[in-house]
Amino acid sequence: MTRTVVIGGGIMGLSIAWELSGRGHRVSLVDREQVGRPASWAGAGILVPANEQTAIHPLDQLTALSNRLHAEWAVDLKSETGIDNGFQVCGGIYLARSLGEAAALSGLRGYWEECQIEYLELSATALGLQQPHLSTAGVRMALSVPGEAQIRNPHHLRALRAGCRSRGVEFHQSVGDPCFETRSGQLVALRLGNQRIEGDRFCITAGAWTSELLHPLGVNLSMIPVRGQMLLYFWPESGLKTILNEGSRYVVPRPDGHILVGSSTEEAGFEPTTTKPVLAELEAFAASLLPALTPERLESQWAGLRPATYDGFPYLGRLPNWENGFVATGHFKVGLQQSTGTALVMADLVEEKPPRIDLAPFDPARVKEEIS
Ligand SMILES: Cc1cc2nc3c(=O)[nH]c(=O)nc-3n(C[C@H](O)[C@H](O)[C@H](O)COP(=O)(O)OP(=O)(O)OC[C@H]3O[C@@H](n4cnc5c(N)ncnc54)[C@H](O)[C@@H]3O)c2cc1C
Repeated sequence: MTRTVVIGGGIMGLSIAWELSGRGHRVSLVDREQVGRPASWAGAGILVPANEQTAIHPLDQLTALSNRLHAEWAVDLKSETGIDNGFQVCGGIYLARSLGEAAALSGLRGYWEECQIEYLELSATALGLQQPHLSTAGVRMALSVPGEAQIRNPHHLRALRAGCRSRGVEFHQSVGDPCFETRSGQLVALRLGNQRIEGDRFCITAGAWTSELLHPLGVNLSMIPVRGQMLLYFWPESGLKTILNEGSRYVVPRPDGHILVGSSTEEAGFEPTTTKPVLAELEAFAASLLPALTPERLESQWAGLRPATYDGFPYLGRLPNWENGFVATGHFKVGLQQSTGTALVMADLVEEKPPRIDLAPFDPARVKEEIS
């Protein structure tokens, strides 16, 4: 039986480990001591709607496949681990208050029409009736999308960890950067201090840190960490059930009364820290939409680093020049959503099966061709 070593224990690493172990593979998963919150913990868990029947571009196909799998995985994880990952189709409302936002939302509406994704235009009156706590002042356009869903990502990660354990995945913790041992163009083992983990295949899923980790192997992936900050409120009486989106900002109600408000998009290096000005901006955004969401209801805040690539497409595939090396990273703002589909196509690759989605646009080798 082959052994796959997965390096990086965020949503990508855990999902791939869960899928591979479910197919009967031996898997070792290496993660390091956390510095701040990994993106997978920090994220909002929004799953935007997609249509598997109409998706043409491989990126849309990956999103649509992932959505279908999220519904299935939630059931499987619950039955294998007893942990509810909070998957629910809660619907979303997209709001535009500025002219620019209205133009962007019209574009999104055109995309939904093309993909036959169900939506409904709401008048200010209908919006006010549906969302009594929402301030409708200045709202130029409101579209309701019933297919939008969410997962509660910290619960999902916990379920995946428990599921991986029960499927026999071995967990290892690295201190400092792991070191690859190579022989004749093959990766043969990973050294973690005194520990040596042998493998037949190696899959690197270290999020924003992937690029650094691959430098010693002569692989150059163009990546940048993009910070996102988040606020967590507790307001059990809100009655809010639907996700509210406006531009790149959102309000995500959890069923237990918690409400997430995010987020920012900042290039600030590897600094997963919150900053006063951004938190103040998010607070102001929240209060402008939901005036009753006052600072007294604020519970905590955090930041995470999204793994971004130079062209906006993830890196999914074989490592250039390393036949038994693979990489899955760079999902930027949609990694929680695309994690299930990514796990499937990466497991297909590891098993040398033709992946069910054309992975050419995601080939890690494209960096050399296009940047040099
Ligand atoms: C504020 C915010 C909101 C978001 N909201 C959403 C959303 O609503 N929907 C959505 O789909 N996506 C969302 N995202 C994006 C999503 O969270 C990311 O795309 C996704 O989590 C990336 O997962 P990952 O496993 O690639 O990276 P990470 O979660 O960063 O995991 C990488 C792992 O690799 C480990 N690692 C790093 N270096 C090493 C090393 N040298 N050795 C061993 N291990 C190492 C780290 O410790 C970490 O555990 C959001 C992100 C943020 C920050």
